[in-house]
Amino acid sequence: MRRFELMVPDSVDACLRVLAERGSEAKLVAGGTDLLPQLKNAMLKPACVVDLSGIVRLRRLERTSGDGLRIGSLVTARALELDPGVRADYPALAESAALVGSVQIRNLATVGGNLCNAAPSADMAPPLLALEADAIIAGPRGERRVPLADFFLGVRRTVLGPDELLLDIVVPGPGARNGGNYLRHTPRRELDIAVVGVASQVALTDGVCGKARIALAAVAPVPVRATAAEQALEGQPLTPQAITRAADLAVEAARPITDQRGSAEFRRHLVRVLTRRTLTIALERASA
Ligand SMILES: Cc1cc2nc3c(=O)[nH]c(=O)nc-3n(C[C@H](O)[C@H](O)[C@H](O)COP(=O)(O)OP(=O)(O)OC[C@H]3O[C@@H](n4cnc5c(N)ncnc54)[C@H](O)[C@@H]3O)c2cc1C
Repeated sequence: MRRFELMVPDSVDACLRVLAERGSEAKLVAGGTDLLPQLKNAMLKPACVVDLSGIVRLRRLERTSGDGLRIGSLVTARALELDPGVRADYPALAESAALVGSVQIRNLATVGGNLCNAAPSADMAPPLLALEADAIIAGPRGERRVPLADFFLGVRRTVLGPDELLLDIVVPGPGARNGGNYLRHTPRRELDIAVVGVASQVALTDGVCGKARIALAAVAPVPVRATAAEQALEGQPLTPQAITRAADLAVEAARPITDQRGSAEFRRHLVRVLTRRTLTIALERASA
């Protein structure tokens, strides 16, 4: 690992000052579970590493005035997995957090790191996309709010500039008769990343689907929404036939590659199966 200067700012403003001076040669570190391996194998060689752990404000997990959720970027996967409010109102998010690595990894791994690392397989991205979350970003010109759907630009690329940091993720209120679920497929049961991940979120209105959101991981350079499948469900009763048709349509949103972990054809098959399963579980939860 190349030597670097370590900075530990104790506030967002102090962090932004460091980034203004050193941004292009600096890397932020939260839990370090993605960054440290990248430093160790010399994939990255920053002259300066900025440790966010001293910024207490980024650890907040709280309800917004509109009954939504504000998740500080340093909130860990373990905290999301265990939080009673998240488990009750946003089960897909709690489920995705519970799948990240091991307990040891989840105690370090943050939601901000998971999103900003921008791996196509990031588990917490699909539920947050399906929940229509926004990213709150701080930079030298103040704060800006970006829908998570616009946050990812490519593999390991986001809209964040070198002088910016992710502050919070804001998730809208769960709403009535709403349910969600996240499932992924991994060849190994433990410590593996998603070959495909699918999050589904449905809201029922007068017995039909008022809103459907489906997001896919590991089948494109960025996490993607399956909009044709969503539109096919909205306004319709969520019958097994409608869910099967939506699962077929979800495959159209996938642009998978073939690699050592699975062929493109296998990944398309997984999208169909996991979309059907997650929609079925989301419907059960919305109906409960
Ligand atoms: C053994 C192992 C198993 C894993 N299993 C999984 C898994 O099952 N599913 C999964 O999705 N991931 C997995 N991961 C990857 C990793 O644990 C997660 O992506 C984690 O959430 C990253 O969070 P972090 O806080 O450790 O990020 P860090 O490593 O600290 O940072 C990751 C990236 O985000 C940037 N960053 C961090 N915080 C901010 C911020 N607030 N603003 C701007 N940029 C920021 C950093 O500069 C860096 O580029 C695994 C990793 C390991 C080592």
